Amino acid sequence: MAKEPKIIEDKATPIKREWEEYARKGNWTVKGYEMVRALSGPGKAEECKEEDFMVIYRPHGVLYHHSYGLVSKFFKGLIEKHLFGTKCPKCKTVYCPPRVHCWNPKCRVGETEWMELPLTGKVHTFSVMLFSADAFLEMLPFVLGYVQIDGAHTALPIQVMTAPTDVFIGQKVRIRFRGKRKGDLMDIYAVPAKGQTMPENSCLHEYERNLEDLNRDLENTYAFLDKRFGIKKAQVERRWKAK
Ligand SMILES: [Zn+2]
Repeated sequence: MAKEPKIIEDKATPIKREWEEYARKGNWTVKGYEMVRALSGPGKAEECKEEDFMVIYRPHGVLYHHSYGLVSKFFKGLIEKHLFGTKCPKCKTVYCPPRVHCWNPKCRVGETEWMELPLTGKVHTFSVMLFSADAFLEMLPFVLGYVQIDGAHTALPIQVMTAPTDVFIGQKVRIRFRGKRKGDLMDIYAVPAKGQTMPENSCLHEYERNLEDLNRDLENTYAFLDKRFGIKKAQVERRWKAK
């Protein structure tokens, strides 16, 4: 008979209880409705007629649970303020984020070994996030950096706490842990190391047009944040200073 998994640490019971209660109240149950008068029919708007439609509102949530499998050590490490990677004993490739098996074809998916990594690295490349999924909207605008941890050969996607106009490829960063950690990549972020100057050929500064475009887009994001959440530009800028 297969051996049952045994819980050796439990930080999930409160959410399971909360979820039970929510489920009992009726997930998917209609809680309200609106009558809406709107256009109906195919073709151009002026060819359509008005109809009354009923729109119902029913809350729906999902409590996902899934295993981190054999890379669990990495995520548990984040909670305990350690950054782990893995190293292939054969070809010496260092992975962060970790891989349990080496992807170098010569190593024939051989198993890697765990190692602790330093809390320093550099920006390999980056995206400036001006819009996002719901969970990150209040963090906008932010820099998503692909940070190569010193000693690793792969890059970790994490937030770089800096003004979007100040980030550059090759920027040296330090890894910081957030106060409240949950065991996901949001538990860490990067801050630029002190005393660096923006290289003249940085992609945001080599062509004036790039910076102009970014500044225009940032203003649109600030307008959205103010309208949706009442968050002001000055508040956002303070986040980058308070590292
Ligand atoms: Zn290898």
